[in-house]
Amino acid sequence: MNAPNRFDALPHFATAMKAIESLKPTEPLYLVQPDKFAGAAKQFLDGFPGDVLYAVKANPHPIAITNLWNAGIRHFDTASLGEIEAVKSLFPGAICHFMAPVRLPGQAKAAFEKHGVTDFVVDSAAELDKLLSETGKPAKLRVFVRLVAQLGGALLEMSSKYGCRPEEAAKLLKRVRVAGAAPCLTFHVGSQCLSPFSYAQAIEIAQRTIALSGVEIAALDIGGGFPAAYSGQEPPPYHWYFDMIKEALNTLGPAKLNIMCEPGRALCAPGISLVTQVVMRRGDRLYMNDGIYGSFDEQRFISFDEDYPPTGITLDTRGKAKLLSGEKLPFRAYGPTCDSADVLPRPVLLPDSIANGDYVLFGAMGAYTVSSRSPFNGYYPDSWAVIG
Ligand SMILES: *Cc1c(COP(=O)(O)O)cnc(C)c1O
Repeated sequence: MNAPNRFDALPHFATAMKAIESLKPTEPLYLVQPDKFAGAAKQFLDGFPGDVLYAVKANPHPIAITNLWNAGIRHFDTASLGEIEAVKSLFPGAICHFMAPVRLPGQAKAAFEKHGVTDFVVDSAAELDKLLSETGKPAKLRVFVRLVAQLGGALLEMSSKYGCRPEEAAKLLKRVRVAGAAPCLTFHVGSQCLSPFSYAQAIEIAQRTIALSGVEIAALDIGGGFPAAYSGQEPPPYHWYFDMIKEALNTLGPAKLNIMCEPGRALCAPGISLVTQVVMRRGDRLYMNDGIYGSFDEQRFISFDEDYPPTGITLDTRGKAKLLSGEKLPFRAYGPTCDSADVLPRPVLLPDSIANGDYVLFGAMGAYTVSSRSPFNGYYPDSWAVIG
């Protein structure tokens, strides 16, 4: 049961319970749900008023990219040459956009010349100059100036590292126009953004920047940040976001403006669940076979208030998978490595009857899990099955 890149070679089960019953997995097991990838993609393709770019860093695994391609996603927000090559090697017809504002030397040139990438982001004059000199054909480029959009609606901010304020962005837009490339704007309101209003506020900042610059822009990319529904947390529905965005865009002017978004988490989180096994229970401590250095790396950075209520599952004496029932207690969940820091930062709520060898099913584990696994201490979750 090794990680085949070929999706159709994976074992297939009707449900997570059947997969657990049949495989009795002793390694962490990723369960891929193609219908959930399709459902997430459809919400964006049907509801968002523009091009939908999948932000590859959320999950660059061929299984995620293939599922989203099958669901109709054709545009990809790629932040490195490696991501561009990963997408293009699977789907040569994919349209890649290089949306990282600081690129390694030579990467813009290779993206432009070898992969036909014409959309690039900048947030400084130095990076703009580098981009122009590496590509040499400004008339073919759309250059997106990245704005700061630190609006407080997101659980993970994305504006302290990249982006510039409207005054500086306005100057950059003018430089882009003078250079002969198509000036565009972009921002990222932060990941797992629970406030639809943040997008409207950021669009207002974009509008202010356009007014300051006097430059007509060709495209506005409103970034990612759309939340996934994690257990214990129910974000607002996407149509609230789309309605808010459409309303804000109405005030922006030119109707021929190309609108884009870059959801990562929202497109790939729902499509993968994770089965972990309890290797040992000690009181209110659970030692699991996956942790912070495996699929739970993001837990170090994201500040949920809620505890997780995942599903506890046991195999009965006849080997049938059953949901554990009974009163739920908060457990400390440790990962398998010897590092004391390898513990989930928030308690996991599970039935008190949970015991050694039982399983814990975590839903919505497709985003920032597979992408940030490390082989630290000899553990590397990489078993896969398909359900549905
Ligand atoms: C990470 C990232 C995304 C995706 O963000 P999500 O919160 O996963 O939707 C989109 N755009 C850029 C520029 C990013 O860095």
